[in-house]
Amino acid sequence: MRNSREEEVASLDRARGWIDDAKRVVALTGAGISTESGIPDFRGPQGVWTKNPLAEKLSNIHYYMSDPEVRKASWKLRLAHPAWTAQPNAGHHALVALEKRGRLGALITQNIDGLHQMAGNSPDIVIEVHGTVRHVICMECGMTAPMSAALDRVRAGEDDPPCRECGGILKSATISFGQPLVPEVIDRAMRCAAEADVFLAIGSSLLVYPIAGAVEIARRAGARIVIANAEETPFDSIADAIFREPIGKVLPLLVGS
Ligand SMILES: [Zn+2]
Repeated sequence: MRNSREEEVASLDRARGWIDDAKRVVALTGAGISTESGIPDFRGPQGVWTKNPLAEKLSNIHYYMSDPEVRKASWKLRLAHPAWTAQPNAGHHALVALEKRGRLGALITQNIDGLHQMAGNSPDIVIEVHGTVRHVICMECGMTAPMSAALDRVRAGEDDPPCRECGGILKSATISFGQPLVPEVIDRAMRCAAEADVFLAIGSSLLVYPIAGAVEIARRAGARIVIANAEETPFDSIADAIFREPIGKVLPLLVGS
């Protein structure tokens, strides 16, 4: 078992060796890497959606498209989104260091906060499977634009700012409940997972499919599976190493700098 401190350290050294030897590490990050930056885990037991069912309604695309009041409430929440003040933490910075060492092939993230890019990871390797709160998209014409410009309009008095191109409904460029994932993005994530020789699953419960399936794909392709997550995951039994410590502590030790 992995209970003793000594075994944890041994396991850390071993996993670090796999990463040092890897040609292509692929990381998958979830809410757990951003909680240390003050971004709440919306789905967890202490999450916003769990504690406030109205917030979940605001995240449902059907209510959003049909009810102007839901949109107005959503824009107010966006004004106060924790991502605007959050700073990347040691976990994010460790992944930047890994990329600079030429080891990180892809960074798949379930997070919408944009903190990986803010930390300095190249946008080219970040695959945002649930989109990003840092852009808006028009639900009518598909136009995208920076979120900051839309928030300026809200501050200036537009409580539900429409698309300037076509008058359509604007929404954050995130995947809401009831919205399909973007197949090209998921396909790319899966292709990258299949090319990994080490697959690092960080701060994700690995409960949400299809993206949790990336772990299986990487495993079948022969990758070492390293999991860093506070809670158990359904993939612990196939993992080569598991770490339960805070991500901002374990990731710098694991991937070096
Ligand atoms: Zn439009």
